[in-house]
Amino acid sequence: MNIKEILNENNFVFKKKFGQNFLLDQNILNNITSLGDITKNTLVIEIGVGAAALTRKLSEKAGVVLAYEIDTTLKEPLSEILEGYNNINIIYDDFLNRNIKEDLKNYKYSEIMVVANLPYYITTPIITKFIDEEIDVENIIVMVQNEVADRFSAKPGSKSYNSLTIFLNYHFDIRKAFVVSRNVFYPKPNVDSAVVVFKKKSNKIKLNNKELFFKLVKDAFVQKRKTLKNNLKNYDLNKINEVLKEHNKDINIRAENITIEEFAEISNSLN
Ligand code: SAM
Repeated sequence: MNIKEILNENNFVFKKKFGQNFLLDQNILNNITSLGDITKNTLVIEIGVGAAALTRKLSEKAGVVLAYEIDTTLKEPLSEILEGYNNINIIYDDFLNRNIKEDLKNYKYSEIMVVANLPYYITTPIITKFIDEEIDVENIIVMVQNEVADRFSAKPGSKSYNSLTIFLNYHFDIRKAFVVSRNVFYPKPNVDSAVVVFKKKSNKIKLNNKELFFKLVKDAFVQKRKTLKNNLKNYDLNKINEVLKEHNKDINIRAENITIEEFAEISNSLN
């Protein structure tokens, strides 16, 4: 029986609130799993198992797949779909409520990769969770709505460039790998998707004080239309101006025109 038949046989009801559009296209599944260089030493964390077409592919390449699924009504069909797959462990829970380090405790692996095909609203909290909990991941491969994909790697001066872009780009090299047509999902969603790869940065920008840097960046974008002079009133504006002058800029500029390296220089000068 194929995956669709098993879902039907189990009277599975698709839930919009969980973003349930399942990917069943073999070519695209292969393209996704070949992105991260997964080996038998890799532990893959998959968030959102769905009908497990991707999970099955991942399990063939990885040592172990630690997977999360919020929808417990998938338990029955998944036990059928995943019969004979011995290196997949599914935790039926909201991934955002988990303690990742605790969940990883019982596994042996030399690297972690994360794969997720999820609704857009949950993607950023998930990536932030890995950063906050200091989980050392090589790659995070996510599928998101196509128009959202570009936001992650937005460049200074573009509309989508904001403090989140800087936060994410500090930790990862981010690239959009390819677009996935809405036609390959079941049921078919209203928009196309894209696969985005977050690769751990080998050389992070040097910061004297990480907290100060991220606070400065957040404050600089507090009112997007205002200049640094207005948004950063509580900082030493003279020092900030000095740094900016070296880049032919000044404090009458908006945060959206400041690069991540310039923010780092400013924050290092304030420390
Ligand atoms: N990975 C499958 C695929 O590629 O076909 C399913 C993708 S579907 C877009 C998203 C899946 O994530 C759904 O099965 C949904 O129930 C699950 N999901 C949504 N929010 C979740 C959460 N917070 N924690 C765990 N799983 C979640």
